[in-house]
Amino acid sequence: MTTDRPLSSGRRVAAFIASVGEGNRFTKMELFEAVPGVAQADRRMRDLREMGWQIDNYKINPNLSPDQYLLRKVGIRIDRGERRPATARRGITGAKRRRILERDGRACQVCGIAAGHAFPDEPSRTATLTIGHVIPRERGGSDNDENLRAECQRCNDEARDVTVNPPDPEEVFTAARNVKGGLKKKAELYGWMLAGRRELGDVERIFLDWSKLPIEQRRDVRDRLGLEVVKDSTK
Ligand SMILES: [Zn+2]
Repeated sequence: MTTDRPLSSGRRVAAFIASVGEGNRFTKMELFEAVPGVAQADRRMRDLREMGWQIDNYKINPNLSPDQYLLRKVGIRIDRGERRPATARRGITGAKRRRILERDGRACQVCGIAAGHAFPDEPSRTATLTIGHVIPRERGGSDNDENLRAECQRCNDEARDVTVNPPDPEEVFTAARNVKGGLKKKAELYGWMLAGRRELGDVERIFLDWSKLPIEQRRDVRDRLGLEVVKDSTK
């Protein structure tokens, strides 16, 4: 089934970026030269990312300058007529997005990293949060709040990449059944597994509220608590 219709600019962008090759960089200028008339380069990258393309920009990868991109992985080849899945983060409104991020404490529900923090094992890269699906849409997952969670871009990419070395299931089960803190912790862990995300505990919730205070008040609350910690620990 072929068509003589000229490729849409989205598909021409995909064709150009694929031609760059995985592991290589390209600039915004090169993209504009290769695909005359294309607008909103960043928006195009976002569309492709939703189709499994891994394209770093300077926000995720500090080794890049603001006009550079790095193609890490080619996704669905819409330029070759591969079908675009019904992913559509389009269904997730700004308000919903903010609600989910707030609910999840602005931290990745997979690896726990907070927005804007550097990855402990990859300090050159800072976490950007996105909204991911617990059950992927391709497998019938909905856009309802309970199926959504905050995920860092890295975990969100890896979620689609089964080649990332998975842990041993028996080890995970053994660690889970022997978790410290007794039945209460075990039940909490089970609850997280059922929900597919971590719920914030009392301590995390208080910390989040604390971190929203202006710096002076933060210092004040911190120091007052500090006094109590010292007092209690010397009793
Ligand atoms: Zn993560």
